[in-house]
Amino acid sequence: MSRRKNMSNEAENTAHATGKDLGAPPILLTKKPTRARVSAGGRTKTACIRTFGCQMNVHDSDRMRRMIRDAGYAEVTRYEDADLVVLNTCYVRENAVDRVRGHLGELNRLKKEGRVKKVALTGCIGAGQEARDLERAYGIDLVLGTHNTYELAQFVGLPGMEETFTPELPGTEGEHTAFVTIMTGCNYQCSYCVVPSVRGRMVCRPMENVLLEVRRLVESGTRYVTLLGQTVDAWREDGRRFCDLLQRVADIAPRVWFTTSHPSNMEDRTLRLIGQKDTLVKRLHLPVQSGSDRMLKIMHRGYKSERYRRKIEVFRDAVPDGTLSTDIIVGHPRETEGDHEETLKLVEDCSFDAAYVFKFSPRRGTEAAELPGTVPEEVAQRRFLEVLRAIEQSAFHRNRRKIGSVEEIYIRHGRTGEDGKAAVGETWSGHAVHVVTDAEPGRYVTAKIETAGPHVLYAGVPFGPPR
Ligand code: SAM
Ligand code: SF4
Repeated sequence: MSRRKNMSNEAENTAHATGKDLGAPPILLTKKPTRARVSAGGRTKTACIRTFGCQMNVHDSDRMRRMIRDAGYAEVTRYEDADLVVLNTCYVRENAVDRVRGHLGELNRLKKEGRVKKVALTGCIGAGQEARDLERAYGIDLVLGTHNTYELAQFVGLPGMEETFTPELPGTEGEHTAFVTIMTGCNYQCSYCVVPSVRGRMVCRPMENVLLEVRRLVESGTRYVTLLGQTVDAWREDGRRFCDLLQRVADIAPRVWFTTSHPSNMEDRTLRLIGQKDTLVKRLHLPVQSGSDRMLKIMHRGYKSERYRRKIEVFRDAVPDGTLSTDIIVGHPRETEGDHEETLKLVEDCSFDAAYVFKFSPRRGTEAAELPGTVPEEVAQRRFLEVLRAIEQSAFHRNRRKIGSVEEIYIRHGRTGEDGKAAVGETWSGHAVHVVTDAEPGRYVTAKIETAGPHVLYAGVPFGPPR
């Protein structure tokens, strides 16, 4: 089934991903049959969900998609075909609001022409300060933050959904890959970040509840589980830590990954577990943000670069074939040329396989937005390109080392058919691979890596049929 073709989600990334497909597994539709909701004119009602932002948003959209489908809406991809449009938004970068404004303007016009009936704004922007202004300016029918997305259920005509659509209930079931949220919110206060104010403080989901969901997913056919949280490795419950939960999940699910981790929470035993446990994808995403201790302090990251480097040493030692990616912000207020040099040095020393590099963008309500020492745009742009180039060089160098190896490849996105495009897969080391196979998503093929670029590996014809 070609699910991606049917989807309206763009999952627009807020980051400049220089690396491989850093993990936007396909957004999945439930297989559950639904009752068709019929409009006054006798036709099935339609809805379009568009997602901007990170995997948390993708996951929230997935939950909202289940609501609209359970309410009997058919999903469409174009605004003009939709009775209801849901914009699930991201707030991490300033221009995110401008981008969403563009979409709202278009929707407002379609509403006036009678082609779109209702518009809902959800996600981080829905929870932010601009939401009320946007609501007034564009005649939005429903505004929801990140904590009350369950209210969409009532809006689309499902009764008493507050309990039904909490994160405690199963995510997408019966599909080959699924996200499982294990914690929400964040207890850090990074200078530049809006997440704590829009997502609130950390709330961890009970272990038994997570395991129950993972078991159900696996029983219904899920082959790849990604544990999600803004600081996923900060998860804890009654003396149990993230590593304990990860181990239990990896005992149940056949393939497991997690994101996003915070260096201060990352335990050495988790890094060792990644190397030891067969079912864990050997890929670590550990955002560093800067290589300069002065900047890390200004950003309130809570660690020094030396501590980060030590974590990486443990990871490389425990998982020699693993992949490592990070997030870096350039041009944060007060960043000097010396700080930038230290970031470049850290990039060189850590030999990242990929990174999301961000130019600092002031977010209203954050400390950094008020700080003096703004870095001029042309300086930030140069630093951005320098970091990007350094990452690409190291990624290319590391990817080339894989040429000639024979890899078991998990198919994430199937081949797109007529145009003959390769399927996109992932090795156990976490490398993205293009491979020419008709294998369905969720199956494995084995193939030899023939060539490599800075972002992706290219495999030859697989040996034997898919598994
Ligand atoms: N919780 C994760 C962590 O602490 O590493 C990151 C979550 S944040 C949603 C994703 C990334 O966006 C951050 O790692 C950071 O690099 C980037 N980011 C967040 N706020 C930003 C801002 N105001 N300007 C530029 N980049 C930003
Ligand atoms: Fe934002 Fe920092 Fe929390 Fe990550 S750890 S979500 S960057 S405040």
